[in-house]
Order: sequence, then structure tokens, then C-alpha cells
Amino acid sequence: MLFGRGKKNPIKIADKKVKEWKYATCGYCSTGCSIEVGLNSEGKAVSSRGVGSADVNRGKLCLKGLFEHELFDSAGRGSEPKIRDSFHDEWRVTDWDTALDRTYSEIRRIQEKYGRDSVAVISTGQMLTEEFYTLGKLTRGLIGTNNYDGNTTLCMASAVSGYKRSFGSDGPPGCYEDFEHTDMLIAWGSNLPEQHPIIYWRMKEAQEKKGFPLVVVDPRVTMLAQNADRHLTITPGTDVVLMNAMMHVILDEGLEDRRYIEANTNGIEELEAEVAKYDPKMAQKICGIDEDTIRIIARQFAKADAAMQIWTMGINQSTHGSDGVVGINNLALLTGNIGKPGGTSLSITGQCNAMGTREWSSCSGLPNHRYLENEQDRIDIAKFWNVDVDFFPTARGMFQTDIYQAMELGQIKGLWLIATNPLSSLPNTARIRKAMEQLEFCAVQDCYEDTESAQYAHVYLPAGTWAEKEGVMTNTERRINLVKPIVKPHGNSKPDLWIFNRMAERFNTEGKVNFPEKAADIFLEMGELSKGRLSDNSGMTHELIEKYRGIQWPYTKEQAERGEVPPKGGVRLYTEDATFRYPDGKAKLIPLPFIDNNEVPDEKFPYWLNTGRLIEHWHGRTKTGKLSNNNKYSPIPFAEMNPDAAKELGVLSGDYIRLVSRRSDAIVMAQLTHRVPKNMVFVPFHFHDCVNRLTLGLLDPHSRQPAYKQSAVRIERIEDQQEAARLSMEMRKF
Ligand code: SF4
Repeated sequence: MLFGRGKKNPIKIADKKVKEWKYATCGYCSTGCSIEVGLNSEGKAVSSRGVGSADVNRGKLCLKGLFEHELFDSAGRGSEPKIRDSFHDEWRVTDWDTALDRTYSEIRRIQEKYGRDSVAVISTGQMLTEEFYTLGKLTRGLIGTNNYDGNTTLCMASAVSGYKRSFGSDGPPGCYEDFEHTDMLIAWGSNLPEQHPIIYWRMKEAQEKKGFPLVVVDPRVTMLAQNADRHLTITPGTDVVLMNAMMHVILDEGLEDRRYIEANTNGIEELEAEVAKYDPKMAQKICGIDEDTIRIIARQFAKADAAMQIWTMGINQSTHGSDGVVGINNLALLTGNIGKPGGTSLSITGQCNAMGTREWSSCSGLPNHRYLENEQDRIDIAKFWNVDVDFFPTARGMFQTDIYQAMELGQIKGLWLIATNPLSSLPNTARIRKAMEQLEFCAVQDCYEDTESAQYAHVYLPAGTWAEKEGVMTNTERRINLVKPIVKPHGNSKPDLWIFNRMAERFNTEGKVNFPEKAADIFLEMGELSKGRLSDNSGMTHELIEKYRGIQWPYTKEQAERGEVPPKGGVRLYTEDATFRYPDGKAKLIPLPFIDNNEVPDEKFPYWLNTGRLIEHWHGRTKTGKLSNNNKYSPIPFAEMNPDAAKELGVLSGDYIRLVSRRSDAIVMAQLTHRVPKNMVFVPFHFHDCVNRLTLGLLDPHSRQPAYKQSAVRIERIEDQQEAARLSMEMRKF
């Protein structure tokens, strides 16, 4: 019991009667916090707490992690497999064999009739890495469709693409410790306090000790922008222009690191020729940042002993997403800010295991950053898995964002959706709905049976969630951490790994391919495949990972045998004794001509529509919408609207307004705030049937990631507020 002032009003902290604490890693964002869940004497999860000895979070958790134990029994969990003949029919509960047989026979029927690639498999960033690896083996090695991707295309594809283009491989080179060493930080389109609260805490603590300047580039006054030394309110979608102008200043004033450039990069002449066109005087007209500020920031960045850049969806979710990442890398390479303490370009990843899927799912190729386009990679994996090398395609198939268009065209007839909900998360959802209606067969595998996408399923496979399962996840700084089974899967649901292995038995008719049952054994198999590669994790085991509360890759077998303590593993990539992953070991400086190809506000649709996250919710609210401690903070969709714009339209704070785009409309409550400029509204993306009715989602040409953050809308005042409230209520699914 704690006592308040004067000991008159004691604050009582309820005794949850925890009998045992069990270890896991948080299953929401990619920060990768170590967490312990408390069980009472009946084995029920009743509390969550941060792990003090974990370097990532040092005992802290954010609002989502603190209530994560409530997930296990939340509403909407699926407990039995279900089938039906048409998505118009009622569900029938069935047994696992029937549901799996039906899924297997429908996939094979469709493939025999329309070809192997007529079935698509779309997964997630939410599963455990051993599950990703097993699904990849099943899909690439036995099912044989090339149209296999993850929902990570919606969040991290541009970062992956940009890293590959600049460095020759995916893999964030930095770590959280870099905040403690940096002399300057630029955050591009990243609202750390709401998206990754514990990374923000690490950054803030380091900033308070070291006092480095923080520059935030964001069109909205985010929480991070409120803490910035300089906030650059950039015109949406023009980051590449600002980057080019900064490089123009750096090269013009001779502030680049010539020694580093010559030793470690190719392409400086081409880059110089391109950025010469981006005089700050010209650039300010496009990106909206005045020329003096551009010059000041460029000089400050180049002159810092160590300068760091981070970014999130403000860069990735753009038609220039991949170019934006390359631009960040260009700035870092030009000034020698890669691979040294405090000097890095660190993509802050999205989902808890978006990194795990990037490394091991085989969605974009083959395991551990191998390519289908590389003959030796195909041969190596075919041999290791004991499959025919000619079974592999020689180039990757469609991205998730192209698969739905292929459904519209009738090229994709069957779909297996795993832990993802495209009807909530893809742009222009009306179009996605029509595409789903075209399918001959759809299986949804999810821990919740009430997702919007399950409305179109013929088979529902109930999966275990988060710490009902065992396996590892990789966080933003390449740290692999362990999730242990804290409680049993809900009802008759099963771990995703179990489901994949049972599906594999059906496809693996000759028994040639080995599918281990235990996550720890699969992890060792993955370790074998990683030996000698950039993301070598052959020195790790589940036990060692738990002991050290996570280990950063690379951590090799040799290091483990020498008894090196894991933090000496891969704290940073591309340090002095490492090389970039192009054959000559050099990184590429890539010129980035700016092409203005966004939807922009005009007379008919005069407002920018910006989208993003809130701290209390996670993605489509499939989880947090059902947890009262999260949902009560933001139970309904709303739009941030500038008070001056509201005054002109006669909108009062708390009024319902209609947002209209060229795609559709949505009714939301107006929240008047100067966080957004007069020509912009901001709507959180968490609410079903809301902002993604409006978004256009033009695709980045390299990463195929949608531009969620740049669409145009008009705002309509609604006379009948009662009717508007009723219509808005319909959106409140949970
Ligand atoms: Fe979980 Fe992310 Fe919050 Fe940490 S910061 S507790 S990983 S949601």
C-alpha cells in the first residue's frame, strides 16, 4: 500500500496474488521489450511487468505491454476450426483434420486447374521466427506458389528495399545504444513516443545526458516534434528533395568525408551531378523548408562527430519510400556515419517480428536474405531442404499489394491468409472487398475469428497467440529474443507452428522434407543455414537467448565456442572490420531524381489526409480494441483538424464531420488542434472501415509499399449530428 499526501487518501495497488512470473518478449511493436507475465494459483495470467535485467527496456513497459496479459482471454478469440461452402453461409464447427484436409484439397484443386501460382499465401509480422521459417519451407518447398508475401509490405518494404539498394543487403546497421554516442539526431517521419515508447525513453534519457540536438522532419506537430530542437514541417512526400538539398550543401561546402567515401562507396560522381540540381533556394519551393534552415541542418549534420538518422512510416509509406531510405543512407555514407558508435541510419521497424519475417520467411526469396534470382542460393536451399531445385521460381512473385489486383483480374483464385487482416489494413478497402469476393477459396488462420477478412473465408483455422507459443522474434536493433508459452492456446486453437506442420504432412506425400516439431530444434536448423552470412545466428540457442535477455545478430558459433559474452556479438553492422554486401564490399551512393507523383490537394479535395498511430492501439485494433485498458483512451475514430479550418467550415470541437476522397467517405469526430496545419487532417489508422476507405495507396515502384500518408480529401460539415453519431457508431466494431 502506498500513501498519498498527508496519509489521508491511501492509494491501494490491488494485490493480483501472483504465484509465478514467466518470461516472454512483448508481442506488439518492434522495440522488443522483455516482459514477465504473472500467473495466479489457478494458472491465470493476471499481471505484466518489464524485466529489469533486459538491456532493451530495463524494467519498463508501455501502455500496451502493461496490459498484454489480458490478451489471452479477450473477446473474439477463435476456439474451434470452422468450415462453410460459401462465405454467405453460416459457419459450421468442425475438427482439425477436416479443416486442414479441406484447405489442402482446395489449394491443390485450384493449382491443378489454374496453375501453381493461382493460390496466394499472405502472412504477417506477428508470428514467431521458427513459424515463419517453417511456413516458408512449406510454401516454397512443397506448395510451390510464387505469390507468397507478408503484410510487412505495408510497413517495412521500403526500408528493406532501400537497405538492399544502398548496402547490398537488408539489415539495420545501428542499435539503441547509438543514442548514447550520437552528437546529432534527425528523425524522419517518426513519432517515437507514440509508436515505440520505450525506444523513445532510451533516446530521451541519452539526450538528457548528452544534450545532442534533435531535428524532427514531419508535416504534423507530433509528440516527438514537440520535443525537437528544430521541427521541419515538410510538404508531404517531398523528403527526397530535402535530402538532395542537404547533400547539395554538404558537397558544395566540402563538408563530406572524402576518405570514407573513397574507401567504402561507389557512385559519388553520379550523386554529385544529381544533387547539384537541388540548390536550397529551388528546393524550398518544393519541400516547404526555407533555404537557411536547409543549410543550417546540413552543416550541423556533416560537422557532428557522429550523426544518427532514424525513420518510420513517414518515409516508408510513400511513393518515394525506397528512395527516401536510400536518401537517408546517402547522407550517412557521404558523412561517414555508418558503423560507428552514434553514426548510423536506423530504420525503426514496425511489428514485433517484422525483422524475423525479413530474415527467415522466404517471402521475398529464400531464407536468411537469400535470393531466388541467385542460382547458388537456390541450389543451396534445395539441397538443404531436400527439394528439387527446379521447383523454385527464378524470380520473386507478386508483392501483397499486387496480389489483390491479381484477384480482381482472376489470376489468383485461392488465398491462405495468416494473422493479417487486409480488409482493415489495405488502402481503398472497398476495392479489396470486391477482390476478396472473387475468390473460389479462402482460408483464414488467426487467433481471432471475428476479423473483417474472416467474413470472406471458407475455412477458419484458430491459432494460438503470442505467449501461448514458443519461439523467437527479432527487434529493430537485430536482437533475437525469446517468447515462451505462458498459458495454453485458447480453447482448441493450436500454435501456428503446429498448423504448418500438419499442413506440411499433407503436402509432403513422399516424406522427403523434414519438418521438426520443436521450435528450439528449428532454431538450430536455421542457425546452420545462417553460418558465415551477415545475419549469422549460429552461436545462439533458446537457452542462451533467454539467459542474456536477447542477443543481437550476428553471433557466430565461433564466438560462442570462444565463450564471448553475447553483447560482443552484432551490436553494429558495417564497422571497420566488416564490408558492405555488394561483391566489391562497397556501398552504393545512388542519385535520386524527384518525380512528383502523389495525389495532392486541389480545388475539389483541398486537404492533405495524413494517417498514423496512437500509443494505446495496435494496428487494426484486433487486439487492443478488446482490451478495456487500451480501448477506453481512444474508443472512436477521430480526425485532428486545424481550428482555423474548422472556423471557416463552421465545425465545432466534437462535431462529426464527413471526410470525402475520390475513393469513398468516412464519418469521424473532429478534434481541433494546431498539431496539423490548416490544409491537413490526421486520422489514426486503427479503426476498421474508416481511414482506409479514403486512402489511395499509390505504390512505391521499388518496394510496392502503399503511400498511406499522402491522399487528398474534402471536409463536409454534417447538419444532422445525431444521424452522424449513429453512422459513426457502425464503425465501432469492438
Ligand atoms: Fe511492447 Fe513496444 Fe510497448 Fe515495448 S514499447 S512494451 S515492445 S508495445
